[in-house]
Amino acid sequence: MKPVVALVGRPNVGKSTLFNRMTRSRDAIVDDMPGVTRDRHFGDARWEDKSFILVDTGGFLSNDADSFASHIRAQVELALEDADYVVLVVDGKSGISYYDRDLVELLRARGKSFFCLVNKIDGEKHEVALNDFYALGVEEPFPLSAEHGYGFSDFMDVLTADMPCDGVDEGIQPEGPVRVAVVGRPNAGKSSLINRLLGEERMVVSEVAGTTRDSVDSLVRFGGKSYLFIDTAGIRRKGKVTHRVEKYSVIKALKSLERCEVALVLLDAAEGVTDQDVRVAGYASDRGCGCIFVCNKWDLVPPEKKDVKRMKEDIGMEAKFLGYAPVLTISALTGQRVTKLFPMIDKVHEQYITQVSTSHLNRIIEDATARTEPSLHNGKRIKFYFASQVKNAPPTFALVTNYPDAIHFSYKRYLVNQIREALGLDMTPIRVEFRERS
Ligand code: GDP
Ligand code: GDP
Repeated sequence: MKPVVALVGRPNVGKSTLFNRMTRSRDAIVDDMPGVTRDRHFGDARWEDKSFILVDTGGFLSNDADSFASHIRAQVELALEDADYVVLVVDGKSGISYYDRDLVELLRARGKSFFCLVNKIDGEKHEVALNDFYALGVEEPFPLSAEHGYGFSDFMDVLTADMPCDGVDEGIQPEGPVRVAVVGRPNAGKSSLINRLLGEERMVVSEVAGTTRDSVDSLVRFGGKSYLFIDTAGIRRKGKVTHRVEKYSVIKALKSLERCEVALVLLDAAEGVTDQDVRVAGYASDRGCGCIFVCNKWDLVPPEKKDVKRMKEDIGMEAKFLGYAPVLTISALTGQRVTKLFPMIDKVHEQYITQVSTSHLNRIIEDATARTEPSLHNGKRIKFYFASQVKNAPPTFALVTNYPDAIHFSYKRYLVNQIREALGLDMTPIRVEFRERS
C-alpha cells in the first residue's frame, strides 16, 4: 500500500506550488477524461521507483474554523492521525512565524516526526535564510524552491528513502471478494449504512484484520457472493468525538480508496453534492476505482422532489469526471433499496475486471479510426498500428502509434468512448495510453 505524505503549514508558504511540483510526473499518466482540470488536494506522486499519495492539508478544510490558528491546528491533527509522513513547510523569505512554532509544538507533543522544509530558497545564495529555522529546534531544515526546483531532488531522495519500492502490479485476483470502500463527508450516513449492511439478517458477516495496523475489514456474504467492506472499524466506531474534524479523516478515506475496487461515495440526498465529496470522488477517479454514487437519506427528500433523474444530473454537473459512475438512491435508516447496492457493485466490478481479446480490441480501434481519422500532425498522418489490453482493474488499453504525444485529447476522448460503447463498459473507469512503436 502506498504511504501518505501530508503537507502542513500556514497559508502562502508554497504548499500548493510544492504539491504541483511533486505530482507533476503524474500528468504523463493518461486519464480517461483528459483536459479535465479541477481543484486537487490529493494526488499520486512518484519519485524514481517509489510512489506515494500526497495530501495538501491546506486545501481540504473549509475556512469556517473559528480562527486562523484553530484552522491550522485542525489540519495538523488530521494529518497526525493517519499520514505516514508529515512535511512541515515554512517560508524561507519571511522567516519563522508564530504559527510555525505552534505547529512544531503540536507535532512534538504528538511525538510525530516530520521533515521541515524551508521553501522559497530560490538558489544557493538564499541558503543563509536556513539558519533562522534552527531556532525551531529542528535538526535539519531542508532548503527548497517549490517554484524553481532548487533542492527538490535532494529533498525527494530523503523523503522517499524509507518508502517501499513499487512492487509489480499483480492486478486483482478474480476469486477474492469484491473490495468495497465507503467514503463521503461527515453525516452522510456512512456508519448507518455500514451498520445496516452488517446487521442485515440475511448476511453472514465476519471481521477480518485489514492490511494496516488497527484497520478492520468486514466480510459480508450476500446472494452467494462475498464482499469485503474495507476499514469498517473506523466507520463503525462512533461517538467520542474530540474534535470536529477528527470525525472524518480524509486521509483514512484515501487509504481505503487505495485498497478498494469499488468505492461507494455516499451523499446526503437532502443536501446534495458537496465539494468534499467531489474531491474524494476525484481521487477515486484518479486512482481508477470503480465508483457508485449512493444518495442516502432518500426518506428525507419530500415526495415532490424525489427526482432521481435530476439527482443524476446534479451529480453529473459537479463530478463530470465520474460520468460513468452509476447513482443509487437509498435510505440507510429505513433500509430502502440498500440491498440493491449488491447487484450494482457486481455490475461495476464485472466491468472493472473485464478482459478483452486483442483481436476484438484491434477491430474496435480499426473501425473507430476508419470512421473518424485523427487530425494531421505537422501535415503527417497519425497511424495506429496495434492495440492491446495491458491491465484490468481498471481496464487499461495501450495503443501503439507513430505520434503518441500528438494525439489531441478530444480524439482520445473519442477513442475512449468508442471502446466503452463497443464493449458495453458504461460503468467503469477505463484508461487509454498511447505508446510509440518500438
Ligand atoms: P500555499 O498557500 O501554502 O499553498 O502557498 P502557494 O503555493 O499558493 O504559494 C504562495 C505564494 O508563494 C505564491 O505567490 C507562490 O508563487 C509563492 N511561492 C511558492 N513557492 C515559491 C518559491 O519556491 N519561491 C518563491 N520565490 N516564491 C514561491
Ligand atoms: P457518518 O458521519 O457519515 O458516519 O453519518 P452517520 O451514519 O453517523 O449519520 C449521520 C446522521 O444521519 C445520523 O443522525 C443518522 O441517524 C442520520 N441518517 C443516516 N442515514 C439516514 C437516512 O437514510 N435517513 C435519515 N433520515 N437519516 C439518516
